[in-house]
Amino acid sequence: MDKNINLEPGLLAEDEFSEYSLRPNNLTDFIGQENLKENLRVFIESARKRNRAMDHILFFGPPGLGKTTLSQIISRELGVGFKATSGPVLIKAGDVAAILTNLKEKDVLFIDEIHRMNRIVEETLYPAMEDFQLDLMIGEGPAARSIRIDLPHFTLIGATTRSGMLSSPLRDRFGIPLRLDFYTRGELQVIISKNARLLGIQISKDGTEEIARRSRGTPRIAVRLLKRVRDFAVVKNTETIDQSMADMALKNLDIDENGLDAIDRKYLKCILEFYGGGPVGIETLAAVLSEKKDTLEEVIEPYVLQQGLVQRTARGRVLTVEGYKYLGVTPKPKEMYELFDGDSS
Ligand code: ADP
Repeated sequence: MDKNINLEPGLLAEDEFSEYSLRPNNLTDFIGQENLKENLRVFIESARKRNRAMDHILFFGPPGLGKTTLSQIISRELGVGFKATSGPVLIKAGDVAAILTNLKEKDVLFIDEIHRMNRIVEETLYPAMEDFQLDLMIGEGPAARSIRIDLPHFTLIGATTRSGMLSSPLRDRFGIPLRLDFYTRGELQVIISKNARLLGIQISKDGTEEIARRSRGTPRIAVRLLKRVRDFAVVKNTETIDQSMADMALKNLDIDENGLDAIDRKYLKCILEFYGGGPVGIETLAAVLSEKKDTLEEVIEPYVLQQGLVQRTARGRVLTVEGYKYLGVTPKPKEMYELFDGDSS
């Protein structure tokens, strides 16, 4: 059995089929994010009543929390078409123009990883978002001229894991910014049971609880772990997954009680053992761990920060008292002093 389960919450090829078929289709079936859903209901209802395109929306939050799913749900609830693309795919102004001119009135255009669009593409989007117009240059050199094209009134939904990396002119053009948070264990349990039913997997309540506890607050990981635990159960001829089955499988996959995997532990140990608990800069950590800075910031850190194991300070990353405790180490008095002195930013 492959021990190196990928806990990266980004979309993997293996998730694609099931994500397509297991995605909730409407707001009622979408579990959790209650506040956000309540607001969305109002905005959707208002757009429908006014018979207008909904205002542009920006979803931000770590990967695997449901940004794409919610965007599809919005278009379905509005009864309009849905087109999806992503920031890095759009290279020239013409790429955006081709997509925008093919939209129908009130359609939803979803741009994933919107923080990774280049400047030219971004600037082409400004008048499109604001005035539903497109300014295009035709021809080159002295013969070049600019033409203006009217676009259908559409809704742009942008998704980003890094709202801080969005330029402020772009951010300001979204009327509805919405932040997704990690899910509670209870919400993840509901998602796991629903998915187990859809996948024909038998799982007990305590089995569901065990997987939920170790899913890093992320539905995509919860579903992935469910499938991996199912593999162990099949090989062991176990019909129903219970707590001990889930625990055994997850231990084998090197996922600990808190849902942390080998890379997370390496990250925490690196701060402790090489930098005396910090502070240490993210660039240095990335170099020492041979990981991309983006991977640390988008995949590893959101969860360890949320768990309160590490703190981000102006001088770099610092292990918290909880972080020391997690690694089974007692901070020395000097370190304790620095922990409380840490100016968070
Ligand atoms: P993101 O776009 O934020 O990376 P996705 O929308 O692709 O995340 O969601 C990842 C997976 O998790 C999908 O399979 C989706 O069906 C599932 N999922 C996400 N949020 C929920 C939820 N609230 N209820 C049920 N399933 C969810």
